[in-house]
Amino acid sequence: MTPKKLLVSLFVCVALIEGCSKQTMENRQSPLAAQIKQFAPTELCGDTSRLSEGDRKALAILFEVSKLVDRIYTRQVWSGNTWLRERLEADTSAEGKEGLHLYNIYYSPWSGLDSGKAFIHDPVDHRPIPSKRPEGADYYPEDMTKSEFESWLKSLPASEQKKATGFFHTIRRGKDGKLKTVPYSEEYYDLLEPASRLMRQAAGLTDNASLKKFLNLRAEAFLTNDYYASDVAWMELDSPIEPTIGPYEVYMDELFNYKAAFEAYITLRNDEETKKLELYSRHLQEIENNLPIDAKYRNPRLGALSPIRVVDEVMIGGEARSGVQTAAYNLPNDERITAEKGSKRVMLKNVQEAKFNSVLVRIAEKVLDADQRSKLAFEPFFTHILTHELMHGLGPHNITVAGKQTTVRQAMKDLSSAIEEAKADVSGLFALQFLMDKGIVDKSMEEPLYITYLAGVFRSVRFGINEAHGKGMALQFNYLLDEGAFEYNRQNGTFRVNLARIKDATKKLTSVILTLQAEGDYAGVKSLFDKYAVVRPEMKSVLASLTEIPVDIEPRFALTDKSR
Ligand code: ZN
Repeated sequence: MTPKKLLVSLFVCVALIEGCSKQTMENRQSPLAAQIKQFAPTELCGDTSRLSEGDRKALAILFEVSKLVDRIYTRQVWSGNTWLRERLEADTSAEGKEGLHLYNIYYSPWSGLDSGKAFIHDPVDHRPIPSKRPEGADYYPEDMTKSEFESWLKSLPASEQKKATGFFHTIRRGKDGKLKTVPYSEEYYDLLEPASRLMRQAAGLTDNASLKKFLNLRAEAFLTNDYYASDVAWMELDSPIEPTIGPYEVYMDELFNYKAAFEAYITLRNDEETKKLELYSRHLQEIENNLPIDAKYRNPRLGALSPIRVVDEVMIGGEARSGVQTAAYNLPNDERITAEKGSKRVMLKNVQEAKFNSVLVRIAEKVLDADQRSKLAFEPFFTHILTHELMHGLGPHNITVAGKQTTVRQAMKDLSSAIEEAKADVSGLFALQFLMDKGIVDKSMEEPLYITYLAGVFRSVRFGINEAHGKGMALQFNYLLDEGAFEYNRQNGTFRVNLARIKDATKKLTSVILTLQAEGDYAGVKSLFDKYAVVRPEMKSVLASLTEIPVDIEPRFALTDKSR
């Protein structure tokens, strides 16, 4: 779609805002249709009426960049992924169309929910589709083992080791069969070069200086593979358009959690909500100083810059688009920046509202004790996600293990994402309780907070406990159940919060997780997951009663997405 056509549709989008968040349920029978129905199609919009003329034009170009990011990510997932998408697009049969629809939800032939199993099984053009996604995605050669990588790593000088374990290099085999690093700027040059050109073009159109700076620097990073300056510029963005475009999260690298997947969130700032939430960020150091851990593990000086934004999503691309939708994120992940400047939290408010209405309200009807059900509310749901994001920036990050400087992420290897998510959830409860006790957050939120959190556990665990968030949630749920903070009613199969026990129990678990992270205790974290990150019979039967409820939303950006 040309930028000019997009502009016309943006105006329509404004007119349609009232019609947003409506869902349509389709009633079809095939096995793929059942999987498609797990995602409630939901239209997401944002208010473009406050944008300047230049910003509107820049926005239309950023939608095009987002589509290029889609193509990079598609390639990162698996070496056959782009080829498979083309085959599915060419298949006009009803079954082929359903395959493409589900493929477009997951951006791969593997379900993100069903333990990552393939939903397209038969070889296409005689090329077999692996039954599960390769653990190292396409970041590493498919035939490479963990131990081959580790012994190769030991043979490298320090500067090369940094690339090999860093975010922005793929690992390939040279002609001699030996492993080597390839910078993203080279690996994806054919897509990063045009993306870079478009971003410079958008930079020329916007009249916002901070956006101009970010777009120009990120355009440069795409070609130089040095993301530092553009990450700093992203931290300092103060603009009605809030784009996040680049290689960020490492979840897809299930071998080591080292490599970053490309994604794009094109969003519009929600000024009113952002102001409300800045209140919380003023108390971050106070929360850090009161974390329930040994004082020596607390950070006496958090990074000065901890911006927080509440935005509405108007277009996404790459990893942001695949599977379960992100409700909020905390970036960048580069420790050089989090150590110096903290990190920025972006809350996707229209996504959160859509999830709450399409999914959580219906889950609560099934899982919560009838007496507590009426306490379910959007405000505590939204506020807990906010504190989850805030807490990613607190607690141990740069640590010393056996006299050696390292990071929690490096020390926790394959478990780093899951333990970090569990930490953010449970310490978020601790932080909110702290703010309520101080009178900064209204005390009336207390009961709704814990009850909404309990319902939310089931929403997360439904994603599967192999994924970082679901795994982290299963850990919290079983730990809190054993502490008597959650109670199961065998008669009617519902759960309730024991309000007398929940505060101490969440504080205790916060302490356990933060201490393991501070000490870089990988074995300790592993045994915690082995014990608690499981689906026990009670939870299993409740989960089985939720099968008709969608697991998540399938976002539709009707006005930018017509080609889909
Ligand atoms: Zn998180």
